[in-house]
Order: sequence, then structure tokens, then C-alpha cells
Amino acid sequence: MDQKEKTAGQKLQDELGFEFKHIGKTHPEDVEPALAFCEAYKTFMDNSKTERECTAYLEQMAKKEGYELFDPAKQYQAGDRVYYVNRLKNVFLVTFGKKSLEEGIRFNIAHIDSPRLDLKPFPLYEQDEIAYFKTHYYGGIRKYQWGTTPLAMHGVVMLKDGTSVSISVGEKDEDPKFVVSDLLPHLSAKQNQRTLSDGLRGEELNIIVGNIPYQDENVKDAFKLKALELLHERFGMTEADFTRAEIEMVPAYKASDIGLDRSLVGAYGQDDKVCAYTAAMAAFAIKDPTYTTVTVFTDKEEIGSEGNTGMASHALDHFVEDLCDICGAKKRNVYRHSMCLSSDVNAAYDPTFADVFEKQNASFLGHGPVLTKYTGARGKSGSNDASAETMYKVIDCMEKENVRWQIGELGKVDEGGGGTIALFMGDMDVDTVDLGVPVLAMHAPFEITSKLDIYHTYKAFCAFYR
Ligand code: MN
Ligand code: MN
Repeated sequence: MDQKEKTAGQKLQDELGFEFKHIGKTHPEDVEPALAFCEAYKTFMDNSKTERECTAYLEQMAKKEGYELFDPAKQYQAGDRVYYVNRLKNVFLVTFGKKSLEEGIRFNIAHIDSPRLDLKPFPLYEQDEIAYFKTHYYGGIRKYQWGTTPLAMHGVVMLKDGTSVSISVGEKDEDPKFVVSDLLPHLSAKQNQRTLSDGLRGEELNIIVGNIPYQDENVKDAFKLKALELLHERFGMTEADFTRAEIEMVPAYKASDIGLDRSLVGAYGQDDKVCAYTAAMAAFAIKDPTYTTVTVFTDKEEIGSEGNTGMASHALDHFVEDLCDICGAKKRNVYRHSMCLSSDVNAAYDPTFADVFEKQNASFLGHGPVLTKYTGARGKSGSNDASAETMYKVIDCMEKENVRWQIGELGKVDEGGGGTIALFMGDMDVDTVDLGVPVLAMHAPFEITSKLDIYHTYKAFCAFYR
């Protein structure tokens, strides 16, 4: 059927104007592959609750894909694939390209740490016949969201004799879970007067560990002792061993489909493991890249990237130096000619809370990965602010392969803000821009993403590497 002839104004509008559209409207054929792509993503999320577990899982995936442990004494050819693990929390995947290293690396960097409740160094106590763990939260959380949420205990304990013991309690259906309590509405009149940010306070995020005493009238803290006995039975640890441990309490539930149409994924820790997964899958898919690709999975982003497994450290720089040594390349030339995607999530527009967004520059669920020119707060402070030339190169890569993408800004000007690892790569003299999946309820114990966005983010990363 013939459409009505367009007016001159309508034609000019088509020619000069631009609009970002929902992928479900423009590419309905992508719905099925997107849903299929996210099945393994959910499994990845269930196996990657902490940065250590994510590192181990990525290493296992890479080995299956034929990656070998990086050997600085070896020479590598185009197409060779190696991996390196930094202190069990930070992974580098490399595929050597056809061009020389001095022509630049294509970096793709995502973080694998997520907000959570960490146990304090000396956490166990009992109060009024309940045994508890004291916690100190990690990253930006809205504390009130963590009360009455089933939690699992993950981590590692170094015993006195140097044995490393892994801990995971609460992930299996039959496992016990842990929880922070909150008041009942009947008695919360006073608590209701607190501001939302103060709804549950840091020192109120105490985790219930047990409520049965050790059977001995002569013991002072019998409820605490019972918990210690159970921890000793299961992990061989004593109270002193907590001081040599890293134990993270994370939501105990699994990733699941959300919505009648299964269009969305709900899971803990999608910031930023959704970008880690898509980055890994793209690294695996692009077997003969033009430029050498280095995919980095980093830690500590949620607390400022400090520490030697985070991007503020020299860990990546030292690794690149190793690559330069085997190729006889000058490191500064490598960086100068490199490009980097700082692959991190952005806030998706939330119709229920529309007034914190500037709708024209917000990212929307289902519109594809968000290209974020700048992050930061108060006049872009703390931002990398990508150049027009960098934006051109990344957009060109995506459009050549028909990848859907959108622009995005984290909320209205002066409404808040946030940062990513982009500035650290900028510091290294590398052209860098943020690209990642939009997320609803970011940093909540259960975050929401769109499968169409996840799939097109994967496609964008493939385009960038090709
Ligand atoms: Mn992030
Ligand atoms: Mn974050």
C-alpha cells in the first residue's frame, strides 16, 4: 500500500533530524537471538558473585576457548591468545593482532567488583542471645535496601598454617542464608522520621548468624561459640582466622528473567559484570583482530579503583610493559596509538522517577549500549570527557556493523553523578570513552537490564575489536 506522499518539511526532518529508537521496533528480528544470548549470561552471573569467583570463572572460560597462560619468555604470533591473572582478582585476556603492537592496542575494560556488605576484620559477636556478624559496606549502597534481603557468605580465609580455604554458604537451595533485620511497621514510627539515606545505618547492618546456644552453662557467649563451632567444623577456622580473611555478604538469589515477555534480566552485581560478560564473549568471538586486543577485568572500581588489583594501580601498565618487551615495542608509542572502551553501565531512564533525568540525553532500556561521552559531577569533575574524534571512531565502528547504540548522561546536571575507570586510561595517554549497558536500580541488591541491550553491547564490543 502506498504511503501518503511526505511533505517537504517531513522529508527535510528525515534528512536532518535524528532519533534513537527501541531495538524491538527497528530490529524485531534481534529479540530471539538476544534472549538466547542471555541464557549463558545468567549462569555467568550465578557463578560470579564476587571478584574472586568472577576471576576464576573467566579463567575457566578462557582456557576452554584455548587461551594459554601468558609467558613473558615466549614469542607470539597474530591470532595467539593468552591470559594473565593478577592476585586472583584481576584478569587480562590478549589476542595478538595482525598489526604491530606499536600501532596500538584495542583495550576493553570492565570491572568485576560490585557493592556488597563486607565482614569487619573481627566480626563475630552475640547480643541478647543472637549471634551476629558486624559489616562494613563496600561501594555506594542505599543501606535501607539491604535489610530483610537473603544473603550468602562468600570469600576466603587464610588459616594460620597458610592454607587458603574458600567459603560459599547460601547459594545452594538447601544452604542456610543470612539476613539483616529491620523494624516492623507497627514499631517504626520513630525510624520513619529518619531520612531515607539514614533508614538503616552503617552500624545497623548486622547479619544474623545463629540463635541456638552451645550446650554448656559455664560458657559466657554460648550463641557466638555455637557459630564458631560450626565455622570450625565446616572450614577449619577459628575466631583469630577472621583477621586473615576476606568475607563478602552478597544477595543469595539467582539471576532470573523479568517480565512476562522475559525481555529483562534481574540479578545482583550486573554493574559491571554485564559488561564483563559481553567483553569476554567479544574477546572470544574475535579470533583474528587487526590490532592486538587486551580485555581487562578489574577490581576495586566501586571504591575508587585504588589498590593493586584496581585500575589506579600500575598492574595493567606493567603487563603492557611485558607485552612490549617480547615485541621490542616502545611502550609510549603503544599507548599513544591505542584506543580503550571503558565498559561500564549507565543509569537507565526510569519512568517512575522521571524527574532526576534529562530525558533528551538519558539512556533508555532497549535502545542498545550507552555511549557516555563524560561522567563525573559538578561540571564534569573527575571525568575523562572523550573527544569528538574518539566519539567518531567508536560510533563509526558500531554503525558499520549495524549495531544499535544510544547516547547517555548520568542524570540531570547537578543531580548527582559518578565515575568510571576511563580517567585512568586517559592518564596513560590512551583515547578512551565509556560504553556499556543501561541499568535500572543500579547498585541495588537486584539490578535490572534489557536483553536487547546486552546483546547489542556484545555486538558493539565485537565491532570495536574487529
Ligand atoms: Mn560500574
Ligand atoms: Mn557502580
